[in-house]
Amino acid sequence: MSEEANIVFKVWGARGSIFSGGADKTEFGGDTTCFSLATGGGMTIIDAGSGLRAMGEAMELRTIETATEIDLLLTHLHFDHICGLPFFEPIFCNNTILRIWSAAFESDVDFRETLLRVMSPPVFPGFRHWDSVRLCTALPGVAMPLAMGGTATPFSLNHPDSAFGWRIDCNGKSVTVASDHEVGNTGIDTQIIEAARETDLLVCDATYTDEEIAHRRGWGHSTWRQGLDLFEAAHGRHVLMTHHAPQRADGEIAQMEREARMRNAAVTFARSGWTHIL
Ligand SMILES: [Zn+2]
Ligand SMILES: [Zn+2]
Repeated sequence: MSEEANIVFKVWGARGSIFSGGADKTEFGGDTTCFSLATGGGMTIIDAGSGLRAMGEAMELRTIETATEIDLLLTHLHFDHICGLPFFEPIFCNNTILRIWSAAFESDVDFRETLLRVMSPPVFPGFRHWDSVRLCTALPGVAMPLAMGGTATPFSLNHPDSAFGWRIDCNGKSVTVASDHEVGNTGIDTQIIEAARETDLLVCDATYTDEEIAHRRGWGHSTWRQGLDLFEAAHGRHVLMTHHAPQRADGEIAQMEREARMRNAAVTFARSGWTHIL
């Protein structure tokens, strides 16, 4: 892998809270949160929402490149961020090793027990493919090496039950994911701005409108205006707004994108399938 190798960033799910289908949700997609980064030397995934199933299918069909060692970085274990995990086909292949990282646990054992609690009967009919899955704990602020090359560093977000964003640095480029996050805790916001400093791509939480957020304080999400404030303070290069509310129709999100671009041309609202080359 050369020093100049590009990073291909792709959106597999941009919806928040729960899958949302229907004819008015086709442009931005209904799958819940999942993003991938590929370098040609390997692959990193952020979050395992329902979009992970579509990603696994694309890997199986070889319509995207595949890798035998994959790092999956979880922001947190809310259901919209893990529901795709048991439907990720590559883990059923013997030669795939999936390392799942979380910064929310004291030990790998705690992490495994918590994930197993969710993926067990009668909630789910068991998850039998642990042989190809390694559960690993990361420490906030400490960079850990990725199979694709480069590093990932977790940092705290302001979200119920706690959540962690990730900054990924590879080949002189960076992607910083900071959803799910509620802007307003000055200490945490400052840490996020530091973590995202001059990042090439910042992924921000844009769940609510200005009207909605007045009734949703403490729910752990933000508006695109607040995301843009973080992005501009961090002097990033491009910002991706994500975690679209389940009820938000294509036309409404497209209108939000137009408004946001009048303030800053470097903003995109995430669509399933959107690809960005860094
Ligand atoms: Zn979420
Ligand atoms: Zn959440």
